[in-house]
Amino acid sequence: MQTKKVDRRRFIGQASAAMGTLLMPGPLYSLIREPRKLGIALVGLGRYSTNQLGPALKQTQYCRLAGVVTGSKEKGEQWAKDYGFPSENIYGYDTMAQLAGNKDIDIVYVVTPNGLHAEHAIAAAKAGKHVICEKPMANTVAECNAIIAACRAAGVQLSVGYRLHFDPYHQELMRLAKEKDFGAFTQMKGNRGFVMAKKVWRADKKLAGGGPIMDLGVYIIHGACMAANGQSPVAVTAKEYAKTKPDMFIDVEEGMDWTMEFPGGAVCTATTSYQHNSDTFRAEGAKGWIDFKEHAFTYRGMVVETSRGPLNFTPPNQQALQMDDFAQCILSGKKSRVPGELGRRDLVIIEAIYKAAETGKRVEVKV
Ligand code: NAD
Repeated sequence: MQTKKVDRRRFIGQASAAMGTLLMPGPLYSLIREPRKLGIALVGLGRYSTNQLGPALKQTQYCRLAGVVTGSKEKGEQWAKDYGFPSENIYGYDTMAQLAGNKDIDIVYVVTPNGLHAEHAIAAAKAGKHVICEKPMANTVAECNAIIAACRAAGVQLSVGYRLHFDPYHQELMRLAKEKDFGAFTQMKGNRGFVMAKKVWRADKKLAGGGPIMDLGVYIIHGACMAANGQSPVAVTAKEYAKTKPDMFIDVEEGMDWTMEFPGGAVCTATTSYQHNSDTFRAEGAKGWIDFKEHAFTYRGMVVETSRGPLNFTPPNQQALQMDDFAQCILSGKKSRVPGELGRRDLVIIEAIYKAAETGKRVEVKV
């Protein structure tokens, strides 16, 4: 795929100008010495942007926060002050087309509710910006297809916010799956949930696409595919929990039990809900196991043991690494290791799980 590269020539130009910089006054020298970081605009300034992505962008080496898209101009002004970008780089959801004229912004990171990802990602692509889309990539496979097509048509790169590819514990899971220290993983088990005390958009089908399987189950699906060495399941079965809060979970599930069968016979059994707290994942092979005992899919406090003993990696800032990697992909023209196709794959699996729950039948997965 031919994608837009950002200013590699500027980097090369900077290198060749380096000799001349020795003769330059200090301020000009520092401007030229530092390669320009790619500009990111966050779309949606909710909790994830505020608590994770914004702060991570203060740690990144290859990108920086250069703008925002928000429904609140006032909030945008506060972000502009906090992060040092000009007020002109504050956009509304309805003015995203104007991003096209802004050279400060190279990447648009969509962090709105799932049901809005397609609209915002497509608007960003049409404005000629590279796109990162939060998980789940969209509400449906059809929406994922539309995002992928829009990015392809615009010649921009697309990536999904699968930060765990940049986490050392999950990298170890992928390595074990590949190198088979414990044999191929044949049994996987995942459990992820939190108690939803009051109704938010995550329980609204239009905005969330579904219930906890969209928000939380997607991590187990993704982790199980990692443990299966990148393979997708061939079939799923599923059963929805009985509802304990039918007023809150009107047209979405409150919880789901499901299984995924992988090629070669490996099986993952999983559960997710908005009525219990849990975050665990375990994969077993004939010669050993890895057990994410606590905070399996989050960004702090992971407790991971293996049949060889505990793992003790220093947790990095996953989000900073994820965004820096995408920036480097753009600069070098390399494809992201977490491309749109991975997000689409997970939606294919989720749609099969919903179909299995609805029909009570085993449903084949065709990615
Ligand atoms: P949030 O509710 O805290 O923020 C959502 C933002 O979208 C708010 O700023 C809100 O004003 C804005 N918004 C725009 N239009 C809206 C509408 N019609 N209804 C509701 N809000 C609207 O949510 P969040 O936790 O920041 O999640 C945002 C996205 O990020 C979701 O897709 C979620 O799955 C994803 N997320 C990912 C991670 C991760 O670890 N990768 C963690 C949390 C959230």
